[in-house]
Amino acid sequence: MAKVALGSAREIRANWSKNVEFAPTQVVHPRSEREIVHHIARATAHGIGIRAMGAGHSFSAIAKPEGALLTLDHYRGLVHLDSDTGEVTLRAGTRLWEIGPMLAQHDRALEVMGDIDRQSIAGAVSTGTHGTGGRFTGVSGLVTGLKIVLANGDAVWADSEHNVKLFEAARLGLGALGIIVEVRLRTVPLYKLHRREYSAPLEETAARFLETSMEQDHQEFFFVPSGRRAVVRELNHVPAESSNRGMGRVRTSIESEVVGNGALALANRLVQAVPATKRPLSSAVSALMPAGEAVHFPYRLFVASRRTRFRECEMAIPASRFGEAFEALTRALEGSTRSLIFPLEVRRAAADDVWLSTASERDTVYIAAHNPLHAESDDYLHLVHDTLVAFEGRPHWGKMHWLRETELRELYPNFEQFVSVRDELDPDRLFSTPYLDSLLGG
Ligand SMILES: Cc1cc2nc3c(=O)[nH]c(=O)nc-3n(C[C@H](O)[C@H](O)[C@H](O)COP(=O)(O)OP(=O)(O)OC[C@H]3O[C@@H](n4cnc5c(N)ncnc54)[C@H](O)[C@@H]3O)c2cc1C
Repeated sequence: MAKVALGSAREIRANWSKNVEFAPTQVVHPRSEREIVHHIARATAHGIGIRAMGAGHSFSAIAKPEGALLTLDHYRGLVHLDSDTGEVTLRAGTRLWEIGPMLAQHDRALEVMGDIDRQSIAGAVSTGTHGTGGRFTGVSGLVTGLKIVLANGDAVWADSEHNVKLFEAARLGLGALGIIVEVRLRTVPLYKLHRREYSAPLEETAARFLETSMEQDHQEFFFVPSGRRAVVRELNHVPAESSNRGMGRVRTSIESEVVGNGALALANRLVQAVPATKRPLSSAVSALMPAGEAVHFPYRLFVASRRTRFRECEMAIPASRFGEAFEALTRALEGSTRSLIFPLEVRRAAADDVWLSTASERDTVYIAAHNPLHAESDDYLHLVHDTLVAFEGRPHWGKMHWLRETELRELYPNFEQFVSVRDELDPDRLFSTPYLDSLLGG
């Protein structure tokens, strides 16, 4: 056996948003599949749990270990790109920011990405990371196969023809079924994106969103509680030969300059001290939101960097209920002292057939709210969460929420099937934690 890299239990202390502290008994950084199998066998022999962590970019305690923590930081990169099918197989620790340039060398690209690219591919898949677009699914919907090391130490390949139930469960598996070592994804021929950001009346933007988010490839909008305007962001696919432009604007995009901007924290402190400033400050922040255009490769334009940290709750509601849910939400935000001047983000995804996907078997609209890191309470996130739960809201598995097994079971048509795959493959709960048990049952 090759020497296994061991880390200090203190080296990983918390998730990105610093609201979940980690206290693993041990941190291991395997460099091969053999080492991963070895760590699983060792955890089993010692009767301790083991949990995989990607980049620690979940806001919930989903990655928090009970015993040993295994990272795949040293298990990254391309395994294979199939020139016939265009499918790419990646080591599970590969970061999303590594994938775009790697695929571009082979004239391929991912058809959709979320707001950031710091996550690992296994972490993104395991919580159902998504972007926006009425004709596009989240990342789990792009998975066509995966290899996973199970609690009994077997490394198993699963796809739509082999180990089918495992495939259905593990392409959004919450780390509950084993350690994913490879992920195979569907890709598309290389393209560029044309991004446009502009301000528009909020009421009209929301009223037309179901229609416009099907017309544009990737559309989303941002709005501030008590504000009257939205910033709309549209990304459309253009030929790969298109000239790059507007890259100055890339740095002043909505996420990097508004969602991740310290000035908002200041505005919110002011509102807390003088509530009457809420309406004028909301209008001022709405007016500040940037506008502009850019053309570049998708891995540059889908994502933005986050300079400041925050906590986030995101709910997936059936698209058919978006109109009434949005009205209820804006009313709740307007009438509450708990709401903040921090842009909410509204996105769209096509229905998919992934068992635990937030868009499982339903066309979906996502609404996300952010809380600055310094905020003393999460009352504001609770307000958004509770309002949208009433519209069959399914919480993002990697973000903050307050639903537990009994409620979640009702929201997912294939919940029971997932649980029975887990029971079969991990009867002794090697990969389990109290948080995971609260979601899936013990
Ligand atoms: C600033 C910011 C922006 C974000 N933007 C978006 C967005 O636009 N869209 C969106 O949908 N989400 C978004 N997220 C949420 C994020 O994409 C998810 O929480 C994602 O799971 C984080 O990936 P990670 O690699 O950090 O995984 P972690 O948070 O480390 O782990 C997540 C889960 O994956 C499991 N896991 C990790 N590796 C493996 C493995 N090898 N085998 C089995 N299980 C594994 C873990 O056990 C855990 O259950 C954002 C998060 C942040 C902090």
